[in-house]
Amino acid sequence: MRHVFGPVPSRRLGRSLGIDPVPPKTCNWNCVYCQLGRTTPLSRERRSLVPVGTVLDEVEAALHRCRDAVDWVTFVGSGEPTLHADLGRMIREVQAMAVAPVAVITNGALLSREDVRNELAAADAVLPSLDAGIESLHRAINRPHPGLHLESHVEGLAAFRRRFPGQLWVEVMLVRGMNDGETALQGLASALRRIDPDEVHLLVPSRPPAEEWVRPPEAGSLDRALRILGAKVRLAPPGTGDVELGREVPVVDSLIEVITRHPLSETELQDALARDLSPQGVARALRRLRADDRAQVVERRGRRFWSSAAYRYAPSR
Ligand code: SF4
Repeated sequence: MRHVFGPVPSRRLGRSLGIDPVPPKTCNWNCVYCQLGRTTPLSRERRSLVPVGTVLDEVEAALHRCRDAVDWVTFVGSGEPTLHADLGRMIREVQAMAVAPVAVITNGALLSREDVRNELAAADAVLPSLDAGIESLHRAINRPHPGLHLESHVEGLAAFRRRFPGQLWVEVMLVRGMNDGETALQGLASALRRIDPDEVHLLVPSRPPAEEWVRPPEAGSLDRALRILGAKVRLAPPGTGDVELGREVPVVDSLIEVITRHPLSETELQDALARDLSPQGVARALRRLRADDRAQVVERRGRRFWSSAAYRYAPSR
């Protein structure tokens, strides 16, 4: 599978050329809302997970093809990008060849380590996660590796903030009944004050969550979060689901690549196909996808999503 994709429209990063430096699904957390399903097993060690030379060659080729259409180059994994031991080198080399700023989307758990803070400090923007202000809630929502704890997570983000000159945008995913109540939000607000990010982006689950029971918050809870989490908070716009299929590979292979990084609703997938194919072509591509054992359908609250068969979701009721 290729490691570079896009540029794709991103909620906050315009036209983003994505770099995926980890194999699916490699993560040190197992979030209940993860669109890539459950993490089995959890990884904690940093390793050279994919060849750096291959990734850089792909970035160079992509920039040659579409340099003017890229607003950001973004490291965003089929899992947690800081688990790649050579992430710092990749950031620096991509910066040397790109005309666009470099962002890293990460859960931020390894920012508790000085070497990871040093590596990410080279980026222009870092978008770490923080979903809880108390340990029990962190464990309930993010289900981290047993060796990872909220206090070191928050302290790592705060230490990174003190030395990072770029943009630090903390992402908070709100899950109904978990972190959208008054007490949970006050705890989050307190942790955010310690970190002092440039912005706080509120997100709601809009993709198939690993756990079937995960629900987005109600409108009143969003208002409460916007009130409690401080002046820097803003609601992240929903994803467009707008994807481009590669033309260099057969359409089903291209679809598999897209849904491995970003599961799509059936409607989004049909719309993506219809941009290039006739109605008969769309029907033929969907038939092939249904017959392909690399893809699966995940049903959540009456909606059908297409995802990689490599991911493990709790069954729908
Ligand atoms: S949402 Fe991100 S941090 Fe959480 S399990 Fe998925 S990939 Fe890991």
